[in-house]
Amino acid sequence: MGRSRRQPRIAGPSRKGLRTCIGCRRASPRDDLIRLVRDPSGAVFVDRHLRAPGRGAHLCYDPSCINNALQRRAPSRAFQGPVTLPTLEALLAEIIEGIDARIWARLGIARRSRQALSGADALSRGMGRVGLLILAEDCAENSRKSLQNKANALGCPVVIFGTALTLGESQGAPHRVAIGVLDPLAGVLKQEFERRASLSAAPQE
Ligand SMILES: [Zn+2]
Repeated sequence: MGRSRRQPRIAGPSRKGLRTCIGCRRASPRDDLIRLVRDPSGAVFVDRHLRAPGRGAHLCYDPSCINNALQRRAPSRAFQGPVTLPTLEALLAEIIEGIDARIWARLGIARRSRQALSGADALSRGMGRVGLLILAEDCAENSRKSLQNKANALGCPVVIFGTALTLGESQGAPHRVAIGVLDPLAGVLKQEFERRASLSAAPQE
């Protein structure tokens, strides 16, 4: 065993490096930032899983940083060459699409790792353990109110996302109007929903 004994590269600790936002110039942990990459034609796109090879440019999940960076054409400086930039609207839409893809993937993980409760019985029995309650957009008014009241009483945050059909699919069921996510995944998902909310509320020009 020589002195080059290295920690195995397990996802997580190796990704903690700081990166600078090209909108506000503040440094943040890489996982807390949006990563942009450039394809060979110069088109800039969002690296959803922070895994695309090559140089990247980073942005906070903050519409003012994104707007600033586009206005000042900061990505072309970051990539040290000509780039084709999307419009603010298109870039925001692409970032939100990436967040949604991660949310769906994590709801699948929540199911497989038994960190998701869905169905009326499981939810009413386990609501005390739920760290985040997701309600379908098409959840009936009376169920929505009763679930929301239970969650509020327990101090559990509630988000509206997906439909009964898509939430059901994520849990291997035909139809689910609500999913209760347990910790630690609830914490990860809460952060994704906060990012989503701040970008969806962005003023469009
Ligand atoms: Zn920033």
